Amino acid sequence: MQCPKCKGRMYSEKYYDFVRSFDAWKCTCCGELLDAIIMANRARNRCVSHV
Ligand SMILES: [Zn+2]
Repeated sequence: MQCPKCKGRMYSEKYYDFVRSFDAWKCTCCGELLDAIIMANRARNRCVSHV
C-alpha cells in the first residue's frame, strides 16, 4: 500500500473503536491514516479532504 499523499510506505494496524475493531493503514512517513470508512467517504466526496 502506497500513501496517496507522500507515496511513502503504509502499514496496516489494528484500531479499536468503542464498539468495534478495524484495520487501518498508516503511513510511516507523514502519518496519514486511512481506513475503510475514510476511503469510502473520500470516494463519495472527492473534494472533501480530511486533514
Ligand atoms: Zn504519507
